[in-house]
Amino acid sequence: MRDTVNILGIPIDNVNMDKAVDIVKGFLAEDRVHAIYTPNSEIMMEAQRDQNLKEILCEGDLLIPDGAGVVLASKILGHKLPERVAGFDLVCRIFELPSELKEDISLFLLGAKPGVAEEAAANIINKYKGVNIVGCHHGYFQEDEESKIIDQINASGAQILLVALGAPKQEKWIHKNKDKIKARICMGVGGSLDILAGRSTRAPEFYQKHGLEWLYRLYKEPWRYKRMLDLPRFIMLTLKVRLSKTRPS
Ligand code: UDP
Repeated sequence: MRDTVNILGIPIDNVNMDKAVDIVKGFLAEDRVHAIYTPNSEIMMEAQRDQNLKEILCEGDLLIPDGAGVVLASKILGHKLPERVAGFDLVCRIFELPSELKEDISLFLLGAKPGVAEEAAANIINKYKGVNIVGCHHGYFQEDEESKIIDQINASGAQILLVALGAPKQEKWIHKNKDKIKARICMGVGGSLDILAGRSTRAPEFYQKHGLEWLYRLYKEPWRYKRMLDLPRFIMLTLKVRLSKTRPS
């Protein structure tokens, strides 16, 4: 049975990093496709406006709390999630599985600008033993190219497909196509390929530790401020829900 915390109608898995990795191992052993999503405050808020996105998240197989805001919201609602589990960190733990399991794993990288996935692949295979990158494709394709790309993914024999199209595009893409994909895991990874390729950087550890990755991102990408206003909106909405539950009738 899945252990989840309901946050504004979305079941976030009650996991820390080790538990999430165990679940991933279980998915790899099971002969069917699984969708992993990594909701942060922005995605949680977008899902309040977009019912289709909410349904997609609800149908995911693993939803990790990728954001200090999601953990804070769980506290406000009285069902505290143990820790933030960043999608990027989970991806890196997946790359470490071959050393742990003494078994190679194969991945296909889909997304980011042309050339980025290949650069990420070169860095990954350099750093992690037993990780085979069996295919790459950029994320700027037309809908009529999709079936060819899916054939390419399936022909590669990848066990894991990382989809880096940004949110909510990647969640919608995975949901629409996962039943045609033979991989055991499809995971939305946002800007992770850019980081793995060395084209963008992650917030320094201080920001990560103190739940301030959003502040670093705001400083690096100030044009995102409008989207990032969803963070306070998400917390305010969670407070409203909490207060409406505690108010005497
Ligand atoms: N991207 C893509 N196709 C698109 C739009 C975006 O491949 O049609 C890629 C973009 O190049 C970047 C990633 O998706 O590598 C989005 O990164 P971002 O950090 O904006 O995503 P978030 O983590 O905010 O979802």
